[in-house]
Amino acid sequence: MESTWSLIKCICGHNFGIKKGSKIRCSRCSKNNECKIIKNFSSSMDLGMAVASANAPAEINHIINNKLKKSEAKKYSLNSHEESNMSKYQIMMKNATSNDGVLKLDKLVSILNKNFIEDVFAEDLIAKSEFEGLIIRSAHNEWTWL
Ligand SMILES: [Zn+2]
Repeated sequence: MESTWSLIKCICGHNFGIKKGSKIRCSRCSKNNECKIIKNFSSSMDLGMAVASANAPAEINHIINNKLKKSEAKKYSLNSHEESNMSKYQIMMKNATSNDGVLKLDKLVSILNKNFIEDVFAEDLIAKSEFEGLIIRSAHNEWTWL
């Protein structure tokens, strides 16, 4: 493919793009005799990207790093949110536990109902806690805490 676009670097440090054959003139310092062609491109889009990354590599890295940090923070807050939800449910499970330490499914169901929790099922909470080794099945629809 024919290269019709050029990435130009000026002595002042500014990078810019021109259409091949047009007059080279730095868009920042207006010098035209101390610029040199770095690379040629066949599409203006590739040139545009090259100009952007040549001009601001540090800035782009900074933006990417910031985005990473933000998504890390988001992930963390999501986890802690889930954790606080889980402890909320654990409190309800404790409330559903009788004095002799037996957690009953129907009791947990009624506690969830009382708290207007419709998107979480007692069976799921029990299964999750069983999986995590918090409780163990002791009888039909009954569990004891470990
Ligand atoms: Zn310049």
